[in-house]
Order: sequence, then structure tokens, then C-alpha cells
Amino acid sequence: MVKLMFEGSDLELSPSKIVCLLRTYAAHAGELSNDLPDRPRFFLKPPSALLKNGGIVRIPEGVATLHHEVELAVVIGKGGRYIREEDSHHHIKAYTVMLDLTSRDIQNEAREKGLPWAEAKGYDTFAPIGPEAVPSGAMDPGGRRIWLKVNGEIRQEGNTDQLLFPVDMMISEISRVMTLEPDDIIMTGTPAGVGPLVDGDVVEAGIDGIAPLKITVRSK
Ligand code: MG
Repeated sequence: MVKLMFEGSDLELSPSKIVCLLRTYAAHAGELSNDLPDRPRFFLKPPSALLKNGGIVRIPEGVATLHHEVELAVVIGKGGRYIREEDSHHHIKAYTVMLDLTSRDIQNEAREKGLPWAEAKGYDTFAPIGPEAVPSGAMDPGGRRIWLKVNGEIRQEGNTDQLLFPVDMMISEISRVMTLEPDDIIMTGTPAGVGPLVDGDVVEAGIDGIAPLKITVRSK
């Protein structure tokens, strides 16, 4: 469970799952030499990976390359299955900012060997979130600058207008496969500029209109 600021009080989230979109920004797919998906494609992160704002990300033993990915995240309010794209907006409770931390070395090995990404994406602390959840009625997620700084230096910068698929389509497509429950989180993918994090790094990440997230990286 994590707590976010929401309309002046605490929003406690206990998601049943975190669904993460991949290759939704062409510039990021290109920097990792990946083809663009034909439709929204996704994987899961366990809720045990959540880390609250201000927390410490631990680089796990055996992880050689920890990469940052800043992402716009959607918090589901009303659950559903087979949600139509035109109804998706009724199911969104709020927007927030998250990091999809990734062990790139383990992910690359998994890709080569045809293994799942659960290990590369699922370690504890690999899903920092918050501090703020902005009510869906209070912001349009389109046309927002999305950025990430490491030790004060800008590393990732993009705009949510560059998303290959609208958020409404993502929700519809995910709910065709699995029931979305209240509190579930959808991470919408990362813009270009992903790169390594090392012991002592301070990471700040934000999306215009949402309070920025800040975490510290430790190797022990
Ligand atoms: Mg990602």
C-alpha cells in the first residue's frame, strides 16, 4: 500500500496489479533498437515493487545496469472488463508520475533467451510513485512535458503528445485481457533518454501539472 496526496488528503492505494506499456514513444523504442508495436503491448510489475516518494531505491545484488524510465501513470477508479475506448475516461481516478526501474542487463539477457521480464522489472523498490495523484477531471494528460533529472542534470525529456496510443486505447486493450480493479495502476511508457543509475544518485522526475517525484539510489 502507498499513500499519495489527492485533493488535499491522503489517497491510499492497494493495487492488485501494475500494468506497464512498452515502446509507446518512438524515440525511446529507437534508442533501444526496438520495433514499434502494432497495438498497445504490456507486461506486469508486482505491487510489492512500489516505493513512496522520498524513498531509497536499492540496486539488487546481481544487477549490473539499473536504468531509469519516467512514465505518466494512470490510477483506475471504477474497475471493469471489456471497457470500450469511448468509456475509458469514466474508469480513470487520477494521474501520477512513476519510475519504471529496469535491470537492463537482465532484460537484455531475457530478450536474447526468450525469457519473461518479471525479474528485470519486478525487484522491490523498482516502482517509485507519487507524491501527488491529480484527479482525472482536473487535468488532460495530453500535451504535458515529461522529464527526469539525475543529480540535477536533465536526462529524459519528452511530451505526452508523443505517445503512440491514447490512454483510452491502452485501458480498453488491457481490459480485453484482464479485469481492471479499482486502484490498479497503468504505466504508459517512457520517452527517450533512458540510462544507468549508480549508488548515490538523486533522481527527480515530473510531468507538468503533477508534483515531481524524488528518490535516492543506493547499492546497499
Ligand atoms: Mg517502461
